[in-house]
Amino acid sequence: MRRSFTFLLRPTSRQAAALAQCLEDQRQLYNAALEHRRIAYAKAQVTIRYGDQSGELKHIRADDPDGQGRWSFSSQQATLRRLDKAFAAFFKRVRDGRTPGFPRFKGRGRFDTVEWPKDGDGCRWDSQPDHPAVAYLRLQGIGHVRVHQHRLVRGRVKTISVKREGSRWYVILSCDGVLAEPLPATGAVVGVDMGVASLVTTSDGAHVANPRHLATTADRLADAQRDLARKKRGSKRRRKAVARVAALHAKVRRQRLDGAHKAALALVRDYDVIVHEDLRIANLTRSTAGTIEQPGRNVAQKSGLNRSILDAGWGVFLTILSYKAESAGREVIAVNPANTSRACSRCGHCARENRVTQAEFRCTVCDHQAHADVNAAINI
Ligand SMILES: [Zn+2]
Repeated sequence: MRRSFTFLLRPTSRQAAALAQCLEDQRQLYNAALEHRRIAYAKAQVTIRYGDQSGELKHIRADDPDGQGRWSFSSQQATLRRLDKAFAAFFKRVRDGRTPGFPRFKGRGRFDTVEWPKDGDGCRWDSQPDHPAVAYLRLQGIGHVRVHQHRLVRGRVKTISVKREGSRWYVILSCDGVLAEPLPATGAVVGVDMGVASLVTTSDGAHVANPRHLATTADRLADAQRDLARKKRGSKRRRKAVARVAALHAKVRRQRLDGAHKAALALVRDYDVIVHEDLRIANLTRSTAGTIEQPGRNVAQKSGLNRSILDAGWGVFLTILSYKAESAGREVIAVNPANTSRACSRCGHCARENRVTQAEFRCTVCDHQAHADVNAAINI
């Protein structure tokens, strides 16, 4: 199996400056390569390919030893390949008869990841293995950077990426050959309902990962974005407001991941088979008739942003759940969620009136009463 591991980097201030410079040079390389392709196409209808641009790298580096020449050749190739992918996607959409936007220049703050495609080539994971208790990552042109390694890395490190999020730096290791670690069978099966008040409610009546703190951050993010919209372009206050929005976005991501990991871990530990609603189908119904059919379900609807943040949480949760389940030898099944919130889990009677409030379910035929999310989870 292939898995990725993300760790916080703890660069010195000199290393942080070098990381920022590396990112900036890679951004300029990306933009220059994009400009090259645009001009060649506009002036002469010539399509420049990855191979052409990669071939020129040598000269670019030789002409700029204190700039582009400082960084890993392979990481620059990875940046050019990224541009190539953007173009491939563009041309595919054109062939499909759509009218896509041309690949865009990356502005400052719009280019936040650099990849080193092979461990040992311009980069080295665990570069000082004899060092007790502390892990280091060596990056060409930057040095040995301390890593906050909060868990064990399994498998073989293939690619190494460095990502900036606000003022923090992260390393993402993509590893091959990670062995599954099957858990002992429990003989238990569970249905889960994904909601807003609780990320997950199980058919056994447990509410897992209450994302209230996430909603709080989402509110603060909405405030920060309104604040940002009022700031004058190019002003110092605007720059500060941009940084605040970025920091809150990063916080939302961390909280979402944290909640998703906890919920998925709890399910995988306790159940052999985990059944959830198929989000692709659920989203179709939710966006149109959802509010009428499930009146209380959209408590976060007061703000579109808030809502979308919680929505995205379900996708993240299912991705993590599928990884953890595969690794533990558990089975995950997606089912059509039609009527799961309106049907009675005891007698099967299906009516909108069964759903009394957001939290309360009472069947109008058999008088079965339950927490609405638990009822839905049993149906699932
Ligand atoms: Zn009933």
